[in-house]
Amino acid sequence: MCAAEKGRLHGNGKLNPVISRRSFLKWSAIAGGSIALTGCNLTGGANSKTATNLARTSGEKELIVPTSCIHNCGGRCLLKAHVKDGVIVRLSTDDQGPDTFEVPQVRACQRGRSQLKRLYHPDRLKYPMKRVGERGEGKFVRISWDEALDTIAQKMKEIKARYGNEAFYYVYASGTIGATLYNCYAEFPTCGGPLQRLLNLFGGYLNYYGNYSAAQYYYVVPMMFGALGGNSPKDLRHARLIVLWGHNPVETKLAGAGGAWYLQQAKKAGAKIIVIDPRYSDTVGSLADEWIPIRPGTDMALVSAIAYVLIEEGLYDQEFLNRYTVGFDEEHMPPGYPPQECYKNYILGKQDGQPKTPEWAEPITRIPANRIRQLAREMARIKPMTILQGWGMQRRAYGEQIVRGIPVLAAMTGNGGKPGSGPGLDMISPPMPMGVYPTGNNPVKATISFFTFTDAIIRGTEMGPQDGVVGVERLSSNIKFIWNYAGNALINQHANTKRTHEILRDPNKVEFIVVHDLFMTPSARYADILLPDTHHFERNDIATSTWAHIAGIGYAIFMNKVIEPPYECRNMLDICTELARRLGLEKEFTEGKSEEDWLREMVNTARQKLPDFPDYEAFKKMGIYKLSPDKEGTGIGFIDFYRDPEHHPLDTPSGKIQIFDPRMYDKGNPKEIPAVPKYIEEWESPWSQEGQKYPLQAIGHHYKHRVHSTFDNISWLEEAAPQVAFLNPLDAGARGIKDGDMVRIFNDRGEIIMPCRVTPRIMPGVVDIPQGAWFMPDVRGTDRRGCINTLTSHRVNPLAFGNAQNTIQVQVEKA
Ligand code: SF4
Repeated sequence: MCAAEKGRLHGNGKLNPVISRRSFLKWSAIAGGSIALTGCNLTGGANSKTATNLARTSGEKELIVPTSCIHNCGGRCLLKAHVKDGVIVRLSTDDQGPDTFEVPQVRACQRGRSQLKRLYHPDRLKYPMKRVGERGEGKFVRISWDEALDTIAQKMKEIKARYGNEAFYYVYASGTIGATLYNCYAEFPTCGGPLQRLLNLFGGYLNYYGNYSAAQYYYVVPMMFGALGGNSPKDLRHARLIVLWGHNPVETKLAGAGGAWYLQQAKKAGAKIIVIDPRYSDTVGSLADEWIPIRPGTDMALVSAIAYVLIEEGLYDQEFLNRYTVGFDEEHMPPGYPPQECYKNYILGKQDGQPKTPEWAEPITRIPANRIRQLAREMARIKPMTILQGWGMQRRAYGEQIVRGIPVLAAMTGNGGKPGSGPGLDMISPPMPMGVYPTGNNPVKATISFFTFTDAIIRGTEMGPQDGVVGVERLSSNIKFIWNYAGNALINQHANTKRTHEILRDPNKVEFIVVHDLFMTPSARYADILLPDTHHFERNDIATSTWAHIAGIGYAIFMNKVIEPPYECRNMLDICTELARRLGLEKEFTEGKSEEDWLREMVNTARQKLPDFPDYEAFKKMGIYKLSPDKEGTGIGFIDFYRDPEHHPLDTPSGKIQIFDPRMYDKGNPKEIPAVPKYIEEWESPWSQEGQKYPLQAIGHHYKHRVHSTFDNISWLEEAAPQVAFLNPLDAGARGIKDGDMVRIFNDRGEIIMPCRVTPRIMPGVVDIPQGAWFMPDVRGTDRRGCINTLTSHRVNPLAFGNAQNTIQVQVEKA
């Protein structure tokens, strides 16, 4: 039993009766006997037969049913369910095809292969329930589906009448992101699911922009380049030098066709790989020729010092900068803006009197000046070079700066637009032209940053553009109704759990919360009505590489429904159809179409664009369709611009890469939003007041145990990658802490007690608490699981209004 499973017993065990795994499996086996499993038998099963019937008629042989893993990890991988007697007895993955560089297998990682532990987990929610205790207590009683749906529909009508549609919020979630029909993501109009469609028909809801993963990245890259972009993972094989800057694909992008695999191929092809990271990650251990540990939050000091060396030693590519960028030097500034504000002047210290030399950067970054010089020279001389930036360092105070800073180094070294020569961004997958589920338009134009939803609960009507609100001058209502579907950002993944708890627990603030999920997650404990979801093996859907943003190939996977949902679990399409009926919207909502009808439409759309795309029945059987390499494009980001910038300008004010950005200059806040990318000391740092009291920096890396908070309750993964805090022997020794000790990690916002792993794999001065563990407070409010958001701050970044959750100071002591 993992810690999370144990926690269930002293958390909400009373009202979530536990059944044994044995009886659950038995139940599932019985239930499976009456399930229609159509046309998905790779061994030749016919339509409209059940899995169990097929197994029985085939002499109890296993059926192999293609389906998928879909989580927000950057991959979407083929899984094959081996079904016997209506029970999935094991999972395998993509073992078909040639597995070549051009068309690799889309193999699942250890998390995907643990899906059976999620599917048959004894803690699955089984019935609709309503809250009977305080929000957050986790006290619920079972109710009927009719009561649950009637209550929700009634509350929707009441709250709409009292506050209007801006009072409805569909909180950020990513548990089913990447599915085409049951997608929980609500940011874009083209990628939502049934709930988004229902809310749009109901009059709309307060929308959000940005996300917990890459808020600063997604905000700033389109300002700098006019759009998101980058080179394909396949292009890495052409690079001679690859710099993984805060990037850890071996733990986070493990899918068979994903970034880690392509980096291995690039290494085999002779690329030198340097990793810059405060952690000796698995990426360092398995791929790096060199590891450069850096003090968290100081990456822009390193960027600036490298730029200084490139200028000082005449190693930068002036011609490239002139052709593709604006704002590098006084001669290439946008008209009407002071030339002295250019990037080169900042680096040379002409404005602030501080040249950004390696000696200046050394005490900030903890990287020796000589190593910085050497790195700058390598970057200038080894061509082509690709710098891939990870996202952890932009989830920090002033995280916008590093997103802008790394592409400047790429441009200074003449990189971008050629094979192996990246623009300094992340990788981009080839697009997969699948149809989408039509969610319609949201009549509500008001949109907030995803990271300000707790503010919009307590002071929404005071919020306007100064708080990142777009679409309106001021919100007309505070948030009064929340839907949380397949997500744990209601509290667990949001910053400062204590503050969030205080806000959510008060029913006078948010008046009604609906949660639809598989488990009693920390977020589910705040539901007024809690609905049991289906696992994605219990419904049909389609996954595509469009969401697998680190896939080297384009592909689509038919996610066959393998077994029937257990107990009273229901999927979102069913729930929304029932609610639509109660809201008088059924005809508009369903258009008379079933789950299968919508999926058939998506397949037909793909077939119109790709003549070799299989028909619906064939797609169900084959499971995965892989785009042929000749349809992938060049795999080089912004290639038209780099080939001919005059005729194919970027969609930016200058048509070029904006090193100097007039829109930022015009904001008149140069200390926090400088017009050129600068190093800015973080608001919480070793040198700040908090640093005196709480001397260690805490970071929360993405752990191979989980995809964000998904899989935290899976015992196999806990065994393989336990939730521990990583601490350097120097810091541990100074505190009398030994490997395996329980430690107390705390600051003004909260405290955690958890086991400690003492290891030189984390640099001194830093404690690493892998993010995504489920918040498990004891009676004193101390988290006992290791949820880093017990300690994080909800302060937003000044430009992107995104999260800076990796910027925190803490103290650690033996518990
Ligand atoms: S890489 Fe992601 S989608 Fe693929 S199996 Fe692992 S967790 Fe699932």
